[in-house]
Amino acid sequence: MPDIIRLLPDSLANQIAAGEVVQRPASAIKELLENSIDAGATDIKVIIKEAGKTLMQVMDNGKGMSETDARMSLERHATSKISKTEDLFSIRTMGFRGEALASMAAVSQLEIKTRQPDAELGTLLYVEASEVKKQEPVACEQGTSICIKNLFYNVPARRNFLKSNGVEMKHITDEFQRVALANPEVAFSLYQNDLETYNLPAGKLSQRIVNLFGKNYKEQLASCHEEAGEISIHGYIGKPEFAKKTRGEQFFFVNKRFVRSNYLNHAVMNAFEGLLAEGSFPFYVLFIEIDPIHVDVNVHPTKTEIKFDDERTVYAIVRAAAKQALATHNITPALDFSA
Ligand code: ADP
Ligand code: MG
Repeated sequence: MPDIIRLLPDSLANQIAAGEVVQRPASAIKELLENSIDAGATDIKVIIKEAGKTLMQVMDNGKGMSETDARMSLERHATSKISKTEDLFSIRTMGFRGEALASMAAVSQLEIKTRQPDAELGTLLYVEASEVKKQEPVACEQGTSICIKNLFYNVPARRNFLKSNGVEMKHITDEFQRVALANPEVAFSLYQNDLETYNLPAGKLSQRIVNLFGKNYKEQLASCHEEAGEISIHGYIGKPEFAKKTRGEQFFFVNKRFVRSNYLNHAVMNAFEGLLAEGSFPFYVLFIEIDPIHVDVNVHPTKTEIKFDDERTVYAIVRAAAKQALATHNITPALDFSA
């Protein structure tokens, strides 16, 4: 019998990997925003058309890429963020898997414009379904602009699976809000079908919360600080009287990465014990800073699930921090909102 096993061509391998990394337009926005943050951008602009189905563009003023790097960025497992096994245990960047751009380029028409600060000209790359169609020098701003057109145009099953524009836009807004919350020192704007829907100047976390969620959040926030050994917590907890009937405005960030954790949520809810009406959910935005050696973020390609090596200690500190914030919120002086 002849041998029958062969290596898949890159374009096919990328398309399969894309299934995990890019589930919907919002996943692409998350990856693009995180790349801009990793590139040290201080100003990030997002443009969305038709809930990302026809166009998503993220423009940053970060460090840009050389011509060779721009080309390399589209290869799978190609990254500037880690290079050896040990690096996996000290991850400080949002990305490190080197598969987002390759995945997105496999299932869309993708354009990169990028220029490093000291380069006179930048590079333009145009890629369709992993195939580079154009590569040329271009005059452009410092930083990187990545435009994804017609996501899943070559994967009809995926395209048909997308939900209504309303639903997909909600997912995009969620991702945008998370990255914007995690990085208040970075300015962000979001345009939706040519209409500016967010304009967030760089400032403090309290200011960012108010700009994202509304002026009335000003009086709701109890600040939260706690340090214990190698772990520190900071952020804001919504006072119990402002709790809502719907879950949703609850955010945990571990080393600036948004994470989902029922366990940590439980720690906060536990601190609220006796203070909340049945079936109501408090607002919170909490940042946990911890040596990356104690966290595994490589549980899933989207990295929203993580594992702490000592979960119980983290739980105890989060609960203590939340309790402390709630105990003192009545006597805390009004927050200073001057950015
Ligand atoms: P990862 O972020 O995991 O490294 P990506 O596929 O998202 O993988 O990106 C590949 C590489 O392309 C990054 O490591 C980075 O060097 C470069 N890159 C991507 N986006 C940008 C950007 N906005 N500005 C500068 N470099 C970028
Ligand atoms: Mg990335």
